[in-house]
Amino acid sequence: VGVRRRCQRRGMTSSAFTVTGHWIGGGIVAGSAGTLPVLNPATGDLVAEVPAGTSADVDRAVAAARAAFPGWAATGPAERAATLRRIAAGLAARQEEIASAITAEMGSPIAMSRTAQFAFPMAVLESVAGLADDFSWTEEIGNSLIVREPIGVVAAITPWNFPLQQIVSKLAPALLAGNTMVFKPSENAPLTARILAEVTDAAALPAGVFNVVYGTGPVVGEALSAHPDVDMISFTGSTRAGRRISAVAAGTVKRVALELGGKGANIILDDADLPQAVATGVMMAFANGGQVCGAWPRMLVPAARQEEVVALAVEAAQRFTVGDPNTETTVLGPMASEAHRQKVDGYIARGVAEGTRLVFGGPGRPEGLATGAYVRPTIFAAVDPRSALAQEEIFGPVLTIIPYADEEEAVAIANGTEYGLTSGVFGEPEHALAVAARLRVGQVDINGGHWNPLAPFGGYKQSGNGREFGRFGLEEFLETKSIQR
Ligand code: NAD
Repeated sequence: VGVRRRCQRRGMTSSAFTVTGHWIGGGIVAGSAGTLPVLNPATGDLVAEVPAGTSADVDRAVAAARAAFPGWAATGPAERAATLRRIAAGLAARQEEIASAITAEMGSPIAMSRTAQFAFPMAVLESVAGLADDFSWTEEIGNSLIVREPIGVVAAITPWNFPLQQIVSKLAPALLAGNTMVFKPSENAPLTARILAEVTDAAALPAGVFNVVYGTGPVVGEALSAHPDVDMISFTGSTRAGRRISAVAAGTVKRVALELGGKGANIILDDADLPQAVATGVMMAFANGGQVCGAWPRMLVPAARQEEVVALAVEAAQRFTVGDPNTETTVLGPMASEAHRQKVDGYIARGVAEGTRLVFGGPGRPEGLATGAYVRPTIFAAVDPRSALAQEEIFGPVLTIIPYADEEEAVAIANGTEYGLTSGVFGEPEHALAVAARLRVGQVDINGGHWNPLAPFGGYKQSGNGREFGRFGLEEFLETKSIQR
């Protein structure tokens, strides 16, 4: 109500995006309770309202998904892949609408909403559809016939940082495997879920195969996690929420696939191309405002070269100008919400208060941006690897430069957090490969190696237990049956 009043005062009469109900059984179903506001983090304006889902809404969606399961599971992989390709074509036709929705709800710069935010999900749909022909749906081992079957009803819960990408990374493999889905988008960034639902309908996906229930994590997310008729939870989000989901799901022994937080290290070896390593490292710390699970917020550098690295990093950081996400040339928009701005800014202020050496940015808002969820991209140097700045997931544009004495220490620091998602290594290729082998993470990029949609992505340690993309991602959504003859 407070939000509505504020918007009325500003003269806003209607919102650009309308989400009137959940998407259940192939159509819009009114929610059983009130609504949640979706706020534009650059302005604080109301962008849309979505239903605040309840456990009754969850029950209806799960029932729809259960009813649709036998029919969808009985279709073949080729037919399901053809549906995914029609979904990709439908999304392509609505690219501009999707880009504006993402920019409005979570502040991704419009140029990025049109490119990375869009290209990744398209690549996932295409690569997953392409698996239909090559995947071993059945195989024989001696007298056994091994059959890969869908699990049943999958509930997917996603974060706000790449709204469409996160949904599609689950939808594509889950549907190709023959499962049906109930999907709960982030309450911060729920708008692309409706567009996707409409696209699935236009792509002739049978009613009930893909359902959307909006709402908060503690209400809708936990109702899905506890639900006796949900066979699997596929979750992407924070380690904190992942722990809670595991606990709630334990009562029904459903499969739980977790893609959680990270605190990636970029290890710059003594034989690295320093300018390339630092420029790529700064980009991997600041892209999407640092709101990337696989980001590299730690830069590990030979102690003797720290001053060179600081100079290069400061130079690279100048290019990350902060501004209105609707301006075509903006590289860094606001944080995804005001609450998140306060969290990120709090870490920067704490680093300064603890006497950490600040070499770029700092606490407070960037010049000329007195309102909106903006922070200053920030670099600290000579950072203690045990400090909160270097241990905790800040999820903002905050880079910590950490000096190391020798390679043993570099590997120990890189592995010395509770996370284990991604790392970068820069150095002579064979040398870098040897270091990569010692890292307890699910993904290592050597000398800036780029994303491959067929390669697995997922966490070691408390970064999760699942893998997404390619055949590894598909396998997560399958049961394995052996029939002895
Ligand atoms: P979040 O954990 O707060 O929320 C993610 C989703 O979980 C939302 O839909 C939220 O409503 C839901 N949720 C929250 N509490 C829940 C509960 N108790 N039960 C069920 N569901 C619950 O995370 P966020 O702030 O949206 O996203 C940022 C986090 O996501 C970061 O930690 C980031 O590293 C992580 N992330 C991980 C990956 C990956 O692939 N490993 C990718 C992107 C983001």
